[in-house]
Amino acid sequence: MTVVVLGGGNAAGYAAREYVASGGKPGELKIIGEEGVVSYERPALSKGFLLGAAKLPGFHTCVGGGGERQEPSWYADKGIEFRTGAKVTAADLKAKKLTLEGGEVVSFSKLIIATGARVVKLTEFKVPGADLSGIHYLRNVKDGEAMLAAMAQAKEHGQKVVVVGGGYIGMECAAGLVSSGIKSVTMVFPEPGLLGRLLTPELAGVYERLYQEKGVTCVKGAKVTGFTGADGKVAGVQYTDASGATHTAEASLVVVGVGARANAELFAGQVEMAAGGIKVDGQMATSVPDVYAVGDVAAFPLKSVATGEVAHARQEHVTHCRMSAAQAIKAALGLAPPPYDYLPYFYSRIFNLAWVFYGEAAPGATVVHFGDTKEAKCFGALWVSADGHLVGAFLEGGSPEDPAVLKAAVASKAKVDAAKLDASSGAAVIAA
Ligand code: NDP
Repeated sequence: MTVVVLGGGNAAGYAAREYVASGGKPGELKIIGEEGVVSYERPALSKGFLLGAAKLPGFHTCVGGGGERQEPSWYADKGIEFRTGAKVTAADLKAKKLTLEGGEVVSFSKLIIATGARVVKLTEFKVPGADLSGIHYLRNVKDGEAMLAAMAQAKEHGQKVVVVGGGYIGMECAAGLVSSGIKSVTMVFPEPGLLGRLLTPELAGVYERLYQEKGVTCVKGAKVTGFTGADGKVAGVQYTDASGATHTAEASLVVVGVGARANAELFAGQVEMAAGGIKVDGQMATSVPDVYAVGDVAAFPLKSVATGEVAHARQEHVTHCRMSAAQAIKAALGLAPPPYDYLPYFYSRIFNLAWVFYGEAAPGATVVHFGDTKEAKCFGALWVSADGHLVGAFLEGGSPEDPAVLKAAVASKAKVDAAKLDASSGAAVIAA
């Protein structure tokens, strides 16, 4: 048997770990990845890596998931072939064959598609000047290294930096940029507040205040319309503000984080799709026999905490990446694991802060804020359904035990007593 993992990203490392743990035979697992290095913990790129605190090989998988650090020698010792710098240019799922750049054909008995997602680039929307140099995206180590070099330049020459996007990448990169000593950092994003799809205006306001205190300017409700430049290099970011007026913010370095797109094109027309990804069942099995999909590219049956309805959805999060990789390996090895059961979970770290979120910021839920938003030490919000059940929980700070309490409370849809919702920690509220 040959099990092939297509994609050498975060998921591949966890697939390999599970393969060994589940008794997979040496010599029968092959990983094919386009990047030049074996799997690493991708979330580190927009956090410790930008501060120079995380460097490879320090953050190879599975250190983030409490496992061994799997350097190339680990794979060799376990009889796993990990091919780096190898691009798959064609896939024939029925014939069970992959073609690599250069023409080599690799056959498989079982395939795990772990191709992940790629950044959305502003050049795709033909934004004028989007191809100027000095405009950076952050998805892989190579991008990160280029960004570090550009950051060193910006710091040395006192250059201005603009971050486009107020999502995960925008927030974490802006924090990394200013923390690394860059004096002028401006964030430009279209929503009325940071991380608009998750944070309430109250929560976003706390972070916006913190960014301001650290010297980051937030320009909200702003749409980027183009970039100015000289000699092929970016010099400014043009945007229209909420009132429709146009502005140009000076920038020698621009960091763009405007979302990601699943890498599913190789399989177009061969496999059922859903939610912009590859449709899988609770075993991570696709519509093609012996072919599985995991991580960012997989659209899996996700049960809504709020409504109980099941719909195929993608989750661009490392926890799902790790868990789904393990699930697919068990399924591919014939171990018939119980159906995949996933509670949406997100987290982020900026400056010396760290937040977690479990469940859903369900539309229609009553949102109850708690904690000390003035000091910004321990605060959050609970999303409570009309019938008094907890369906989502956000917590900044708190004790090391709090996240587990919140997770359990959301997973069990704890009945919430509104009278107790003025305590200083969300977990304390739930535990009470
Ligand atoms: P996000 O979807 O989090 O954020 C994208 C941001 O860009 C939003 O503010 C969005 O606004 C804005 N935007 C979209 N289009 C434009 C545009 N044309 N001009 C200006 N702004 C625009 O994506 P990211 O790029 O931040 O992250 C990419 C992926 O990496 C995600 O899957 C994310 O989950 C993952 N990631 C996760 C981290 C974590 O969990 N801590 C850390 C880093 C990355 P709008 O919503 O209005 O479109």
